[in-house]
Amino acid sequence: MKILVAEDDATSLFMLQSLLMKWEYDVIAASDGQEALSVLTGEDPPLLAILDWMLPGESGPEICRKLASRGLLKEDGGRREEMMKPYQYVIILTVKGEKENVVAGLEAGADDYITKPFDAHELKMRLMVGRRILDLQEKLRNAALYDALTGLLNRRAVIERLEQELCRASRNELPLSVALLDIDHFKEVNDTYGHASGDAVLVESARRIKASVRPYDIVGRYGGEEFLMVFPGAKGGALDALCERVRNIFQAAPFYSAEHEGERSKMDVTASIGICENNKEFDTVDSILAEADRAMYRAKKKGRNLVSR
Ligand code: GH3
Ligand code: MG
Ligand code: MG
Ligand code: MG
Repeated sequence: MKILVAEDDATSLFMLQSLLMKWEYDVIAASDGQEALSVLTGEDPPLLAILDWMLPGESGPEICRKLASRGLLKEDGGRREEMMKPYQYVIILTVKGEKENVVAGLEAGADDYITKPFDAHELKMRLMVGRRILDLQEKLRNAALYDALTGLLNRRAVIERLEQELCRASRNELPLSVALLDIDHFKEVNDTYGHASGDAVLVESARRIKASVRPYDIVGRYGGEEFLMVFPGAKGGALDALCERVRNIFQAAPFYSAEHEGERSKMDVTASIGICENNKEFDTVDSILAEADRAMYRAKKKGRNLVSR
């Protein structure tokens, strides 16, 4: 597991580093606050950090405050993007006996503190506590973001991602499209094959949709048997082709019901897709989703198993 250690005292840093390496941590060392902050806010950051109270550049508590405030940014996409970021657990290093420091450090958003000179065993155990908290945070985050049945982003999370992408697209005047997919006559699947088979169809649908779109497209479970796809950069004929590919992957091969044998286990499943591209009229989450929904109903009215605008 990766851990950042920010300490400007070379001896102390060396001691910490050797201990952490012995405990099989993947150590990233920083000797000033700026460096520490850029590691913690960079790509694929460590989730565990030990920060000295006194550091050149930014102090430990200052770093904590900046990390904590990231979650509260109000401007455009910023806030929501941060909500998707994993939790970071920070331990502050203070000099023994300075109680105000400890309180101020925790107030700034640190999760724990260690007093110098520190006891190796105590540090090891406190890191264990940190890892337990990180584990729990990760589980909570997954439960908040993902749909338990299909593993796709849940409704709230996919709408948040759409909001981010819409902001980005309008800021940079880029195309963005959404597609709303609704499984045709899904009630009949449940009625004929049972609810468990219906669930299996939803899981398999999610897998097929994911497999047929590009890695940077966003897919979520929008409702019971409805899936929302967000396609950054897609428009016009390329978008139509993309959605046709998704529609096709449903009818291309049968779905199977685990509760039935042989031919009877085969289920023919189709889906209707409504698409909407962003433009001056459709530039908000609500307007673009409402139009995709209307387009999806047009596909249903025209006979289902269709892509419609
Ligand atoms: P249409 O072609 O018009 O979309 O018909 P439909 O039968 O798919 O539409 P309708 O909205 O009438 O039915 C959707 C069904 O999806 C009803 C509901 O019981 C079922 N459903 C919703 N969520 C789940 C789920 O999590 N599991 C299962 N098995 N069924 C679900
Ligand atoms: Mg120092
Ligand atoms: Mg529906
Ligand atoms: Mg349906």
